[in-house]
Amino acid sequence: MSYVAPLSEISFLLRSVAPLEDLCRLEAYAHTDAETALAVVEEGAKIARDVIAPLNAGADEIGARLIDGRVVAPPGFREAYAKLSADGWTSLAVPADFGGQALPQLVNTIAAEMFAGASVAFQMALLTGSPAAKVIAAHGNEAQKAAWLPKIASGEAAATIVITEPQAGSDVGLIRTKAELRADGSWSISGTKIFISQGDHDLTDQIVHVVLARTPNGAPGSRGLSLFLVPKRLDDGTANGVRAMRLEHKMGLAGSPTCEMMFDNAVGTIVGREGDGLRNLFAMMNAMRLDVAAQGVGVASAALRKAFVYVHERRQGSIGKNGPAAIVEHPDVRRMLIQMRAWTDGLRALLYTAAWWEDQALAGADENIRKDAAGLVGWFLPLLKAGGSEAAFTVSSQSLQLHGGHGYVRDHGVEQLVRDSRVFAIYEGANAIQANDLVMRKLGSDGGAVYRRFRDMALAEIKAADARVADVAGNLAAAVNALERASTYLLERIGATDAFAAAPLYLQLSINVAVGWMWLRMAQAEDDASRLLHARWFAAHILPETDLLAMRIEKGAAFVAETSAADFQPW
Ligand SMILES: Cc1cc2nc3c(=O)[nH]c(=O)nc-3n(C[C@H](O)[C@H](O)[C@H](O)COP(=O)(O)OP(=O)(O)OC[C@H]3O[C@@H](n4cnc5c(N)ncnc54)[C@H](O)[C@@H]3O)c2cc1C
Repeated sequence: MSYVAPLSEISFLLRSVAPLEDLCRLEAYAHTDAETALAVVEEGAKIARDVIAPLNAGADEIGARLIDGRVVAPPGFREAYAKLSADGWTSLAVPADFGGQALPQLVNTIAAEMFAGASVAFQMALLTGSPAAKVIAAHGNEAQKAAWLPKIASGEAAATIVITEPQAGSDVGLIRTKAELRADGSWSISGTKIFISQGDHDLTDQIVHVVLARTPNGAPGSRGLSLFLVPKRLDDGTANGVRAMRLEHKMGLAGSPTCEMMFDNAVGTIVGREGDGLRNLFAMMNAMRLDVAAQGVGVASAALRKAFVYVHERRQGSIGKNGPAAIVEHPDVRRMLIQMRAWTDGLRALLYTAAWWEDQALAGADENIRKDAAGLVGWFLPLLKAGGSEAAFTVSSQSLQLHGGHGYVRDHGVEQLVRDSRVFAIYEGANAIQANDLVMRKLGSDGGAVYRRFRDMALAEIKAADARVADVAGNLAAAVNALERASTYLLERIGATDAFAAAPLYLQLSINVAVGWMWLRMAQAEDDASRLLHARWFAAHILPETDLLAMRIEKGAAFVAETSAADFQPW
């Protein structure tokens, strides 16, 4: 599969929407400058195109395999992983004290987008390293930091996130894996985990598993969970009591092993305090949600480019008296292309904006800025995780449609994008869980203060918009009104059935407003006819949906409360 990163779009965003220069002025990033950081991005684009993308179709054909109890990565993955770690791609966002490059999170996010666009299956091997480093840096003790952060930075150790069990999916409070204190102060972990990405592989000799487990005295539910680091190999190099029992046969991502894992008295160390496991793990899960959004934008972008290439090559149907025209001449094809680009580029702008605020949350000049930024990132995350995952699947499916039967067969690699991206809406918190998070935790926190901060930022830019983008600003103002109506309605019902039923509608409404805001910002930033056209399309076609969504929230969600499980019996 070929992949070309949208470098001119990326550098536009880093100039005008999520200014890299501002980040490089922060003390934590003073060791770099925008030019150097941009050079890293350009180098990443080459790696994505030349090293990662060529592996993608083969990985899909052959997949990861379990041979004699050991997981073997698809051909070429080992060499590519070794090159990427030697070249520093595993250390981008790791603190400098521990051998990392301490570059802005924004750069890390762009690398994730490009690598996922080239091959999601390969990028899964890199996905967990930086988020694991985050949770260890935030909540680990000095020994854990010293033991693991340099190894994650150098790529010597890979990482996993180990939550899911057969009976505990979205509801982590049902986790049964046990952790018992040993005489030497370490912990003994036992239980079965399922669906663990990269649970075992031969890309590295060492893997650090970040595991949620239940201690004997733990409270019931999620408050009784604690977090542990469980190495694949013990200090003396012998195997710890953890292994992959089987690999899942999946719809996509064949090149990324999804493992059932057995923990049998595996030795681990606790991260933070007993009972704080889930709270602490959010440092990792939040980083991964941003990465899943980056996967979404990467795949949507790869699918969009394939469509942009194909619609000029394929000739079908006459336009006027001329013979078969390139299909790009057909109005419906152009309509689809506008829609695909409007979502892809709009969500990329939102992704970079969130990563920019994440950098402010980590390294902002003072406590107030960091707190404010963390609130905004918390608001953006469910929008991005859900919006990015939906866009990846929708845009790749539309790209497949534009390829016709040639998209349904394997030759162009578009059907692989559809299959590979379907899981984005499921893992790292299914999108329904993102909706609940947005309404119950983000909107509901501080009586809607974070929501109002988001709203007021959008309103300020609407107010400052110039005449050239007046129609975009006008429709966005109406959409913000719809969001305000829905927010007021839901704030009075936090925790009620009505609010849970409406949460996915509210999530979609918020995504529409946030992406509309990004289009206003992009259209306003530079005079670019094509960008203005897409901004106006989004304002005319998507933003009016917010009114309908607000109405459904106010009127429609209540119907759900009137149903019972008996209404949904199989015939
Ligand atoms: C390819 C792949 C890789 C994965 N990698 C990892 C990994 O590395 N580590 C790991 O720990 N796990 C991993 N997972 C597991 C993944 O995180 C879970 O599949 C996900 O959390 C959903 O859990 P579940 O599959 O049990 O679905 P369930 O929790 O059974 O949910 C099924 C559906 O029910 C609905 N639903 C459930 N609860 C609610 C609710 N409260 N409100 C509204 N609707 C709800 C939603 O529509 C949801 O999609 C992976 C899964 C896959 C497929």
